[in-house]
Amino acid sequence: MVKELRETVARILRVPYYQKRLGELGITQAEDIQSLKDFQRLPLTSKEDLRLNYPFGLMAEPVDNLVRVHASSGTTGKPTVVGYTRKDVQLWAEIVANGLRLAGVTSKDVVQVAYGYGLFTGGMGLHYGCEELGALVVPISGGNTQRQLMLMKDFGTTVLACTPSYALYLAESLEETGISRDELRLRIGIFGAEPWTEGMREEIESRLGIKAIDIYGLSEIMGPGVAIECEGQHGLHIDPHFYPEVLDENGSPLPEGKKGELVFTTLEKEGFPVLRYRTKDLTTLRYGKCEHCGHEGWTMDRVSARVDDMLIIRGVNVFPSQVEEGILAVGGLEPHYLLVVERVGTLDQLEVWVEVNTASFLDEVRELENLQERVKRSIEDIIGISVRVRLVEPKSIPRSEGKAKRVIDKRKG
Ligand SMILES: [Zn+2]
Repeated sequence: MVKELRETVARILRVPYYQKRLGELGITQAEDIQSLKDFQRLPLTSKEDLRLNYPFGLMAEPVDNLVRVHASSGTTGKPTVVGYTRKDVQLWAEIVANGLRLAGVTSKDVVQVAYGYGLFTGGMGLHYGCEELGALVVPISGGNTQRQLMLMKDFGTTVLACTPSYALYLAESLEETGISRDELRLRIGIFGAEPWTEGMREEIESRLGIKAIDIYGLSEIMGPGVAIECEGQHGLHIDPHFYPEVLDENGSPLPEGKKGELVFTTLEKEGFPVLRYRTKDLTTLRYGKCEHCGHEGWTMDRVSARVDDMLIIRGVNVFPSQVEEGILAVGGLEPHYLLVVERVGTLDQLEVWVEVNTASFLDEVRELENLQERVKRSIEDIIGISVRVRLVEPKSIPRSEGKAKRVIDKRKG
């Protein structure tokens, strides 16, 4: 592995910004990296480094040699931009195709890509991977739900690729439209681009009658396909073109099985090679061979939370996915929820809005109060602080056609 990492360092050293940062550590040539220990001394890269070098400052090839750019929108200011050479674009397609194969997708499948197309990597990443595999791609992009359902039925879509929250919305819309599952040929879902829980997986699988596969990626590393579950659904297999590490809060590498921040170094990428990029996703790693599919290498646990999503409420770290877990452990509710945080006096207060399902909604007040109390306790058991729960009418929380918005933090601004 050290040899491959050294090649990435050689490529990185073409970039003046990295030259300077590595130079400060006395590293002026790739040969200075002789062991994994040497590599682990190298600086981390963050989204901030990309912003500082906007738009093309971190490219290791002249812009003339790039054939495509993607960008991820920041919450403020300029987006972070990544570039691909022709070889990168081809490699990406092969990586996604290999991942889809592990997930059980074949050249006979009809794949409806309902991720957004454009600067976001989701749509085009899946698109070229499917073509590489030889599957039939329906590049419908996100949104336009009624049309999604019509084409899903008419084209005999067998694989749906989108965010888990949009999959859920599609499932709900199917039920309303009166299209029964027997009229569809759907069998696999390729879901990613936002953290989700096992409870959410069960919900989607039972409502759509499919196997829901977790896919992982981010534009700074390549896009979707960095890791994906096989049909065995025991963690996401990391493609061997990416070298993963998990670090503790001080940036020190953690051993296998310990949870921390996931960091990636790209191997063989030309246009935008990246060194020890901090994903802000929390997970654990393990190395070995998968009994189900034979994949040998690194496997990561599903990303349960992003550092960025973390709320600090009365000094306690709370992740929306923990609240989701608490909600889905109780029956009678819809997996649609919203966290509303505000400061009352000097005290932070978390209120969780949860939709009841239609059956529960018709229950008597007493039963609803009982349900409310059970949800409250279920969430509090997981996050360890008291919350207020507000049960709301079915379909009253806004649905998402892309990444779901789960938090309203009134303490900000
Ligand atoms: Zn496997």
